[in-house]
Amino acid sequence: MGRSRVLLAALASLSLALGAAGSAQAGAGEGDGPAAAAAEAGGGRPGVGLPPVVSHVPTQEKVVFITIDDGWNHDPEAARILLEQRVPASLFLLPGATAYDTGYFTTLAEQGRVTVENHTVSHPDLTALDAAGKDAEVCGAGEQLEAAFGRQPKLLRPPYGVLNDDVRLAAKACGVQAVITWTHDFTTWSGTPATPRLKSGDIVLLHFTPTLAADLRRALDAARAAGLKPAALMPHLKAAGLL
Ligand SMILES: [Zn+2]
Repeated sequence: MGRSRVLLAALASLSLALGAAGSAQAGAGEGDGPAAAAAEAGGGRPGVGLPPVVSHVPTQEKVVFITIDDGWNHDPEAARILLEQRVPASLFLLPGATAYDTGYFTTLAEQGRVTVENHTVSHPDLTALDAAGKDAEVCGAGEQLEAAFGRQPKLLRPPYGVLNDDVRLAAKACGVQAVITWTHDFTTWSGTPATPRLKSGDIVLLHFTPTLAADLRRALDAARAAGLKPAALMPHLKAAGLL
């Protein structure tokens, strides 16, 4: 499976390497601000056509983007908030984290306003894998999520926000239209992070952990305090000219 895609990616990678000689293009990663996203607008270096890397959506609209990663913990309270408040969140799910209780996510997708997006199969640092490895992780997750949820994911969040142009190229070969990192991580890890003042177009990162309900409330409250409404990513990526 995916042999021709791997070959295609390898050839494209070669041409990219030749074409990129002498150009200084930084890969965007965790913590990139609006400037990095703006620099990526239009798909990166002209002519290459890689999917854009977006950590913040340039927009004048009073919107913020809620994204929730992984999928291991299936808290009913978090699902209730997403459904009752009709939060248009992007869920970057690992197929293995959904497989033991797919219904938790199909309910959210069918009755709520969430979309299921790609976060790889086994959460590796994609930059450490060869072309075949990237293909297996990104295309493999896309195929499994499409089989489970009936829609091919269009967005990829690389694990740890780690990526380079080879990752973007592999993502493109798997049908990914944009690589999404984040502006602010609201996840309670060892402690609850300070709540930042959200701005239009910010991308909020959350995780399916036992604190998701509380973290989600904190994010929604911060959005409300800033006069921002949660919105779906895809239409705003298009409106911003990123797709
Ligand atoms: Zn993750």
